[in-house]
Amino acid sequence: MTDLKPEEETKGFDEVKEALSISGLVPSGPDSVENFEEERLHRKQRLAAGLRILGRLRLAEGVAGHVTVRDPEYPHRFWVNPFGKNFKLMKVSDLICVDQNGDVVQGDKPVNAAAFAIHSQLHTARPDILAAAHCHSMYGRTFSSLGKPLKMITQDDTMFYNDVALCSAGSGAVVLDTEVGKAMATALGEKKALIHQNHGLITTGKSVDAAIWWFVALERTCQSQILAESAGDPIEIPDDLAISGYEQQGHDLAGWFQFQPWWEELLRDEPDFLE
Ligand SMILES: [Zn+2]
Repeated sequence: MTDLKPEEETKGFDEVKEALSISGLVPSGPDSVENFEEERLHRKQRLAAGLRILGRLRLAEGVAGHVTVRDPEYPHRFWVNPFGKNFKLMKVSDLICVDQNGDVVQGDKPVNAAAFAIHSQLHTARPDILAAAHCHSMYGRTFSSLGKPLKMITQDDTMFYNDVALCSAGSGAVVLDTEVGKAMATALGEKKALIHQNHGLITTGKSVDAAIWWFVALERTCQSQILAESAGDPIEIPDDLAISGYEQQGHDLAGWFQFQPWWEELLRDEPDFLE
């Protein structure tokens, strides 16, 4: 892989974007919030749904893991799952809001100290992102122990072409220090995902939808590479083709779009997440 990074664009997605605009489905960004209450509820609904998806896919284990979304009115606060609550049973009413000091300002459940140490720093360093996702998924955490970048070996991997950072700061210990969170945010830079050595994966997005999609997709990418390298010597995709793949499926709208079938399924099967 080279350092060459393509400009983010929505090549191949213009028609989809147009169709979504017409149907009113295009995700709102930080600049387009008109009604804070409405937007807050929207973000919390996507957050509860995203957590359920991670639970359904068995990517969350025990009480580890956290997904956050920035509050639309108070940008230094974020909404997060409460410590110890089962991802698969998450409801909008379970979510808590945490301020820049790590205090719970809405909700009556505790926050995971690691969630604050990591996510507060990511949200501070990257005002352009609304959401961040992290849990201790099997293949992500296994791959993180190798301390090496991902290879582009399948078409799907190219959505991460030159867009995943590595970080070894504080590796192997539970992250409770915001200085480690800061080092993780620095390592992330402008990329959308981070592999924290001996720990696991962290993904970001301009919506919860995108952050969750990138998390699941990156976990699968790690799984794919581990499987391929255990069987032989996988053939890597040339940079020019990887860039083409990235342009098609590596941008934020593509990540948001990939989440929508899950949203549809949850609404049908488990509408109680909206409570
Ligand atoms: Zn963790």
